[in-house]
Amino acid sequence: MPELPEMEALRRALDDPVRAFPIERAGPAHVATLKTFDPPLRALEGRRLAGAERRGKRLVFPTVDGELVLLVHLMTAGRLRYLRAGERGPKTPAFRLLFAGGGQLVLTEAGSKKRAGVWLLAPEQAEAELAHLGPDALGLGAARLAKVLAADGRRLHALLRDQRSLAGIGRAWANEILHAAELSPFALSTHIGGDGVERLAAAIDAELARGLELRLRGAADARTYRVHRKLGEPCHRCGTPIARVDYDEHTVYYCPTCQTGGRVLKDRRLSRLLR
Ligand SMILES: [Zn+2]
Repeated sequence: MPELPEMEALRRALDDPVRAFPIERAGPAHVATLKTFDPPLRALEGRRLAGAERRGKRLVFPTVDGELVLLVHLMTAGRLRYLRAGERGPKTPAFRLLFAGGGQLVLTEAGSKKRAGVWLLAPEQAEAELAHLGPDALGLGAARLAKVLAADGRRLHALLRDQRSLAGIGRAWANEILHAAELSPFALSTHIGGDGVERLAAAIDAELARGLELRLRGAADARTYRVHRKLGEPCHRCGTPIARVDYDEHTVYYCPTCQTGGRVLKDRRLSRLLR
């Protein structure tokens, strides 16, 4: 799933092309992908986008005239690309904008589940749609992070992924960040002390910046992640094989030596006992 580093790299890549020409044709859009119907998509036609912005993991494309905002959330499997004039696109995109210069902004989604979303909204509706998001994770700093952690006594891995607490981090970067901070994914946010908060704040910035730099250079997942999906591979810091705890919807990866005092967390039931 694309998270803050991936979405920020994408935002930077799209910012210039999407504002170069007015929109000539908006759509088609898959019925499950387009989440709004009023204003209609064709209201975009003839207008120019002001560029690409980002809020957490979402991309935000306001029109130059300030009347409309296009929101895009890729979820797990969505992919958004800009195709230059003449470049071949997919036959049935989940969503497409055709620009006057012949370029296209194309959203595709692998698999049968259509979970990625596109919203066309008035600016105040867009603000309401984004209002639940917490502060952007990148550049949060220790003081503001301390408030986020104190407000909600939860396990770190779950709290970091909660977009209402802080926006931009998902499963993969939660694994990378907690490893860098040498904190247990199951430690309670209210029990890590001032030193833990400092380490976590530094790790959030360092890991998201590392991810962004790699993604800007086009690095694939295998080269970008050091802990996420690295089961059994040696920890890059201490050499201990990376372990994991499986959940229904996701998997937590961690180093037992660096993060849990040598304890291997066998399953959810056991992990509840090990904080
Ligand atoms: Zn380690």
